[in-house]
Amino acid sequence: MGLKVYNTLSREKGPFETVVPGKVGIYLCGPTVYKASHIGHAVGPIIFDAIKRYLVHRGYEVTWVVNITDVDDKLIIEADKQNCTTQELAERITADYLEAMKTLHVDGIDLMPKASEHIGDIVAIIEKLIAKDCAYASGGDVYFDVAKDDDYGKLSNRRIEEQAGQRDLQSAEKRNPGDFALWKAAKPEEPAEVKYDSPWGSGRPGWHIECSAMAMRYLGDTLDMHGGGMDLVFPHHENEIAQSESASDKPFANYWMHNGLTRVNTKKVSKSDADPEMQAALTRMTLHNLLDNYAGELIRYFVLSTHYRRPIEYSEAEIDSKRKGLDTFYRLFERVQRVCDASPYEGAVSLTEPNASAAAGIATADLAAACDEQRAAFERAMDDDFNTAGAIAALFEFAAIVNRHIEQNKLESGGDEAAKADALASSRYLVSVARLIGLFLDPPQAKSTGDDGLTDAVMQVLIEVRAQLRKKKDFETADLIRDRLADNKITLEDRSGETSWRVD
Ligand SMILES: [Zn+2]
Repeated sequence: MGLKVYNTLSREKGPFETVVPGKVGIYLCGPTVYKASHIGHAVGPIIFDAIKRYLVHRGYEVTWVVNITDVDDKLIIEADKQNCTTQELAERITADYLEAMKTLHVDGIDLMPKASEHIGDIVAIIEKLIAKDCAYASGGDVYFDVAKDDDYGKLSNRRIEEQAGQRDLQSAEKRNPGDFALWKAAKPEEPAEVKYDSPWGSGRPGWHIECSAMAMRYLGDTLDMHGGGMDLVFPHHENEIAQSESASDKPFANYWMHNGLTRVNTKKVSKSDADPEMQAALTRMTLHNLLDNYAGELIRYFVLSTHYRRPIEYSEAEIDSKRKGLDTFYRLFERVQRVCDASPYEGAVSLTEPNASAAAGIATADLAAACDEQRAAFERAMDDDFNTAGAIAALFEFAAIVNRHIEQNKLESGGDEAAKADALASSRYLVSVARLIGLFLDPPQAKSTGDDGLTDAVMQVLIEVRAQLRKKKDFETADLIRDRLADNKITLEDRSGETSWRVD
């Protein structure tokens, strides 16, 4: 089966075809850098990073552009509040965003153009639109004339007439109430750094035209994929299509891909945090705070556990439940390390062949076939409109197969070397498949506790107390220790008479 992709514009899932054979250009609307990002801002980058990795695996040469909106009303207001320039604000917020992307292993972004560095491209498109009579200057502003665009509204399924009632929104300078600004005249009180020269006087571009200009500059008139959150369909993407296609007379994007929005669920709370204040804090939590509390891989896994077009339920309880899922893999990898004295994270397996089990070096035929089957299931899910949730389900099956192999061959208490080699080979195969969506790139990092051995000393005391309790058959208190630690994201693991701990 070939790769199929859902297109918001056609409302259909269809075979994936690129503009240029073998090449894929992706544009994802990036952050407006006026305040710290929250979880919602990480969703698109995580999804498209997984998509890019998968497309590269499928043999495509991918160019992925994520813009930085550093010219916007919101920046002017916020910079004024903070008594700094819009550049200073933009640089600070961009640095914060990039650091978060790194922690989330969003490594695939090729270009991050800034709106402020593309004013010339923007002006050129506006001039073209005016020359074609699709746009008009009015009192220092320039507006796009929606009445000149026959298929305006095709992405969001809205018609111009539906907005005719919005007379109150109509500025005196507009021809139609739905006309949107391509260029905004500078206001006297605005800072000098946001005033750009143009044929229509000093001013700055509108948000929509910024994206069109940067997308077309780096990816040509027709992009393969244009992504963003569902909330961007109207007006942002509708207006991007209108102005880009009116300027170029070509389709702007072949696949419009919109991810579901993040909903903070205040009902499903874990027992330890059944506190409304905690949930409110969660809503306000910036991406930075979030990554101080959770490992980047957990957040990535959390996002990829839902199909990208569906809304993501975000709550402490949901993250907790995903942590348990992720732990299934970490426990397997620790087990393999213990049994085979080698890391599943090393020795990447080449996945160029459908039956990569041979390349992985799996000798047992049944085990090899079972692993190949789950790898195929993973790819079928990804081929079906990048169903990362289905792909992760295949990884779970894969992990179960490796665990079963370890148990059947009694590798925890000896076992033969060939069976151990197969356990290692199949776990490395699993890791290599998971890496196609950017999971298990590195071993999980214990989060730094910022002390020097004190936490470990305290943990050893707790582990010893718990062991004593268990000896005295006070399992209730022993379990209480384990559960309370788990509430605090510390996992205890009992293996052959020894207990280890880690922070998730
Ligand atoms: Zn955009």
